[in-house]
Amino acid sequence: MTEIPHVLILGGGFGGLSTSTEIRNSLSSDQVKITVIDKKDWFMVGFAKLWILNGSRTFENSIGSLQELEKKEINFIKEEITSIDLENKNVKTSKQSISYDYLLISLGAVLAPEKIPGLVEHGFNLYDHNQLLEIRNKLENIESGKIAISIMGMPYKCPPAPFEASLLIDSMLRKMGKRDSVEIHFYSPAPITLPAAGPEVSKQILDLINSERITFHNSSKIKSVESQKLIFENGEDDFDLLLAVPPHIAPQVIYDSKLAKESGFIPIDRDCKTSFENVYAVGDVTSLVVTETAAVPKAGVFAEGEGLAVAKNIIGKIQGIDDSTLFDGKGGCFIESGKDTASLIEVDMFTNEKPTTNLTESTPENLSKKHDFEKERLTKWLS
Ligand SMILES: Cc1cc2nc3c(=O)[nH]c(=O)nc-3n(C[C@H](O)[C@H](O)[C@H](O)COP(=O)(O)OP(=O)(O)OC[C@H]3O[C@@H](n4cnc5c(N)ncnc54)[C@H](O)[C@@H]3O)c2cc1C
Repeated sequence: MTEIPHVLILGGGFGGLSTSTEIRNSLSSDQVKITVIDKKDWFMVGFAKLWILNGSRTFENSIGSLQELEKKEINFIKEEITSIDLENKNVKTSKQSISYDYLLISLGAVLAPEKIPGLVEHGFNLYDHNQLLEIRNKLENIESGKIAISIMGMPYKCPPAPFEASLLIDSMLRKMGKRDSVEIHFYSPAPITLPAAGPEVSKQILDLINSERITFHNSSKIKSVESQKLIFENGEDDFDLLLAVPPHIAPQVIYDSKLAKESGFIPIDRDCKTSFENVYAVGDVTSLVVTETAAVPKAGVFAEGEGLAVAKNIIGKIQGIDDSTLFDGKGGCFIESGKDTASLIEVDMFTNEKPTTNLTESTPENLSKKHDFEKERLTKWLS
């Protein structure tokens, strides 16, 4: 009897969960062994963080348990990955050494607030789930002053999310009757709100936040943070509460294995292959350049789509059929208005010569589609 091939998946986020589920839905445990490793044993759809921030959700009600994978005969190991040996097809964790026939690297991006001097001491990390309750507490207690939302590095996860955060915070303050005494300022190193979505959608997003009296400061490249002061390359501004989107980097184990250059991400193409045979990479840990000025944004929906392409290729290889599926580059991100509606930025990265985007109307139906998006993923991957 030939040995059952082993697919090892590093990271139980959007990319790892879509790949492992798709492979298991097509091949039984007699045909393939699948293992997912993650240092934590839960998964959350990223946008739920903003619901925890505005008090409409708790952390406990927003996560699915990765232990559920075992029900699908997908092994789950909760351990820290410490090294990836691509020559010898072996991955080490804090406790063991695991060999593989196929490897998927879907380790996501790491938030690196320490890269901005003074940020850890003087500001909050908007994307860190551990800080959300403290941020909410600050928002509930602010009486007057200036809230600064600052993007401190590009690329970052889910480009519309900080804008959505500004709208949800505006809504919170309005409901508390404090909006007139609190200013909201938004700083970005980019010249327009959403470079990844192009000038037209960027203008629509600008109009949307301006209509809620949120001031957008473009081309504001951060140098450092001091007590109640942001220092940019081209000036300074003061704040009372700072909510930052810190620079993103890849996990250290990626740099140690030389899969990416320092501070960068793993370069991939639409087949999501690396230069090592049967080693694939997807999602936030990668960089997929589309044109000179555009790359696939860091978003769960794209990590999921890339994961599906990898799953089809691994299934094809195991069955000896075909491994030429390409990531289709289609997806969308919701933007909630704070007024019980949401719009959707629809993205198509590859069908035309350059990526195309479209912002839909903000409607209650889109908001319920956003809730469905979360429910569907938690159900199909982790129940
Ligand atoms: C506020 C917010 C809103 C968002 N909204 C949206 C949205 O509306 N739509 C959308 O599509 N996306 C959204 N995103 C982005 C989305 O969450 C990410 O792009 C997505 O999670 C990327 O998937 P991934 O599989 O590449 O990485 P992740 O989901 O980050 O998974 C990586 C996994 O690897 C694990 N890991 C990393 N290093 C190690 C190690 N050394 N050892 C063991 N395990 C390790 C991590 O614990 C993690 O579970 C949002 C993100 C945020 C923060």
